[in-house]
Amino acid sequence: MAVTESAPAAPPAAHEGILRRQSLRESAARTYARSLPIVPVRARGLTIEGADGRRYLDCLSGAGTLALGHNHPVVLEAIRKVIDSGAPLHVLDLATPVKDAFTTELFATLPGELARDARIQFCGPAGTDAVEAAFKLVRAATGRTGLLAFTGAYHGMTSGALDASGGAKDVRVTRLPFPQDYRCPFGIGGDRGAEIAAHWTRHLLDDPKGGVPAPAGMILEPVQGEGGVNPAPDAWLRRMREITAERSIPLIADEVQTGVGRTGRFWAVEHSGVVPDVMVLSKAIGGSLPLAVIVYRSSLDLWRPGAHAGTFRGNQLAMAAGAATLAYVRENGLAERAAELGERMLGRLRELAAHHPSIGNVRGRGLMIGVELVDPEAAPEHDGGAPPADPAFAVAVQQECLRRGLIVELGGRHDAVVRLLPPLTLTDEQATAVLDRLADALQAAEGSPHRRAAAGSLR
Ligand code: PMP
Repeated sequence: MAVTESAPAAPPAAHEGILRRQSLRESAARTYARSLPIVPVRARGLTIEGADGRRYLDCLSGAGTLALGHNHPVVLEAIRKVIDSGAPLHVLDLATPVKDAFTTELFATLPGELARDARIQFCGPAGTDAVEAAFKLVRAATGRTGLLAFTGAYHGMTSGALDASGGAKDVRVTRLPFPQDYRCPFGIGGDRGAEIAAHWTRHLLDDPKGGVPAPAGMILEPVQGEGGVNPAPDAWLRRMREITAERSIPLIADEVQTGVGRTGRFWAVEHSGVVPDVMVLSKAIGGSLPLAVIVYRSSLDLWRPGAHAGTFRGNQLAMAAGAATLAYVRENGLAERAAELGERMLGRLRELAAHHPSIGNVRGRGLMIGVELVDPEAAPEHDGGAPPADPAFAVAVQQECLRRGLIVELGGRHDAVVRLLPPLTLTDEQATAVLDRLADALQAAEGSPHRRAAAGSLR
């Protein structure tokens, strides 16, 4: 879908001025703005147009939020309908027809076993708020305070969510190994590596001297996103379900990034058939506007009124946009489409990897794809003999992508994984354009001074 031709671009000076003022006035903590110095003024589908008149194919999609791409007509129509109806836009957590319709649509998508018996809590607007709510919920329900979380995890930026993320060292969080095929923590990868990871978890929980604070819950991402696109093997996820069920530990699936068709099923837990006790949902459920909820089994609903409050839990526009998005994904089979197109894109990326030793690994599920970049000339690391990750090269590839009008995100343990999170509405032609630009960018970065210097220093 093209951005409308009639839209006039801002003069180049305006673009430069906005970027300059941003770097002068905004916080040192700003993130995407550093690696993507663009000033979006219009967007439609996969395409963003900058104030400088340049167009970009957006494979970041608001960090995986835009299931239908930018400004999808059904989303815009849903928002307009609420505005034109005269409905209040701010309602705290009061009941409204818009909220009622959103909840009905969301429950229709949930795994049946959960949907039949689910409660929903509308949280503050961000994914991290919903993560905090999930922790409060399971702590209230179990009377325990510990948490089980995984290496490489990302759950958000508020303190409880940070504690559960891979970079934290909070003592109440017990860190467990997330299986990885490439860079397997046990040096073997594959099914066996995942089995050992599960065995370690079970053993640790049963060890009376294991030092594990009594866990109120286990939180995991069915596909780790920020951690570098690591899909949890289905068998391992089923083992986590068994292990937690046997010990009455609520299982929390963080589907903030994986939800709404992204991985090739409506919810990523469906690949394994696992039904969690709590699901944390945000990003795509708001149809590009802020919305975050937890859905959970009614048996856990033991917290007190007001246990998790917040002023902005009633975003009517987000609920309308979200309901429209959920319905569109469901009615148009976009999860199946993501599975099929994602498989083809992975295939083409693996072909590319066969000719580029700087691609260490290609992995993903559906339209959540990661390409790990390595330094093929350097000595292998211990974790399964993989070459070391090359974050500087990944930055060079990202910049070459941008030069070619392609927006990609970097992630992973060492920030060396190029991440593709295109909208689920991606056409075959657009997918080809994205991969052509990426291949071209890779080629260009391989010839860059950084790479030549690195190669030269080894000779
Ligand atoms: N959980 C996961 C799996 C995420 O990917 C993210 C955001 N990338 C979050 C939680 C936090 O969401 P938010 O940034 O909206 O707080």
